[in-house]
Amino acid sequence: MIPFNKPYFTGNETLYIEDAVSRGMISGNGYYTKKCHTYFQSTFAFKKVLLTTSCTDALEMCAILANVKEGDEVIIPSYTFVSTALAFVRQGAKIVFADSGSNNPNIDESKIEGLITPKTKAIVVVHYAGVACNMNVIMTIANKHNLLVIEDAAQAICSKYKGKYLGAIGHMAAFSFHETKNIISGEGGLIVINDDRFIKRSEIIWEKGTNRAEFFRGEVNKYGWVDTGSSFLPSEIIAAFLWAQIENIKDIQAKRLEHWNYYHLHLKKWATENNILLMPLPNKETQNGHMFYLLCESEKQRSELIKHLKSHDVLAVFHYLSLHKSEFYRDKHDGRVLTNSDKFTDRVLRLPMYYELNPEKVISKITQYNV
Ligand SMILES: *Cc1c(COP(=O)(O)O)cnc(C)c1O
Repeated sequence: MIPFNKPYFTGNETLYIEDAVSRGMISGNGYYTKKCHTYFQSTFAFKKVLLTTSCTDALEMCAILANVKEGDEVIIPSYTFVSTALAFVRQGAKIVFADSGSNNPNIDESKIEGLITPKTKAIVVVHYAGVACNMNVIMTIANKHNLLVIEDAAQAICSKYKGKYLGAIGHMAAFSFHETKNIISGEGGLIVINDDRFIKRSEIIWEKGTNRAEFFRGEVNKYGWVDTGSSFLPSEIIAAFLWAQIENIKDIQAKRLEHWNYYHLHLKKWATENNILLMPLPNKETQNGHMFYLLCESEKQRSELIKHLKSHDVLAVFHYLSLHKSEFYRDKHDGRVLTNSDKFTDRVLRLPMYYELNPEKVISKITQYNV
């Protein structure tokens, strides 16, 4: 069986976990957490980072830091994972769902301005499949209307937009190290804060609403409860695992891109014959080999293809059901029809993608399917 995803262990994960234990401290914000923080800040030019227990948690921190509250509106694409919206719903915001582009699952930036009202507080963008949203346009709109931009960069590690790393462009950003992402720690995430106004408060919210970080830097002589927050920091065991992944990030990225390119090259002819579109190659921006997806001509064709692959022991999956149609939100949605989001909901099919994949095997099975 060729699985859809297989977590890749680079070799040093358990060694570093043992080392963390032998250092005598495995709660959060220790030796490995600091190594990871330094790496992300220096490599990607993120202003301030904090490891979190998930991308969902990082997004929750963003919502708190943005001071999103009851009565505020937040613009979010409908074609995304639940967490992108959930973090803001928990703060009491109304979600104004935006459609995807016609050729690209990312938010259609040309529709954003029409959704802005005096209640709008933030725009949350998702770099789907690690491919950048049109950030120049989005940042210009946000600055004009004095709105915050939060990048859900869960899938976007190492991808760039006009020379800048994704996650370094918005006011804040969130990454995921869930086992299905490029670099992993089982569950895990990272919040990026690029706007000075939110840096001091981010450390407080991260550590249960206390000014513990300031205390340990000797800036205050006692620490206590000063704000809201939660326990957003992961243990050193998670950070140690992640460090082993980080040490191999170049190799991981190269291997995933190799698989991606192999898929793209060898599926072209078959896709055309079957009226299927391949995930487009980003032109100016980069991509990070996070995902390879097909756009089927119909939901029916997608189901047939999944069935065909399953009968040949290959697991391909689809994902993201338009959030504006979800059981939880459809009654709260304002009724606008979001055609492109629904199109990607019905027709996207993701092929297996992981470090140890042999894409040739998938291709030999997939090309046996013909309409
Ligand atoms: C994976 C993912 C998340 C959630 O990440 P967790 O670390 O599992 O919380 C959020 N948004 C997007 C776009 C994702 O792909």
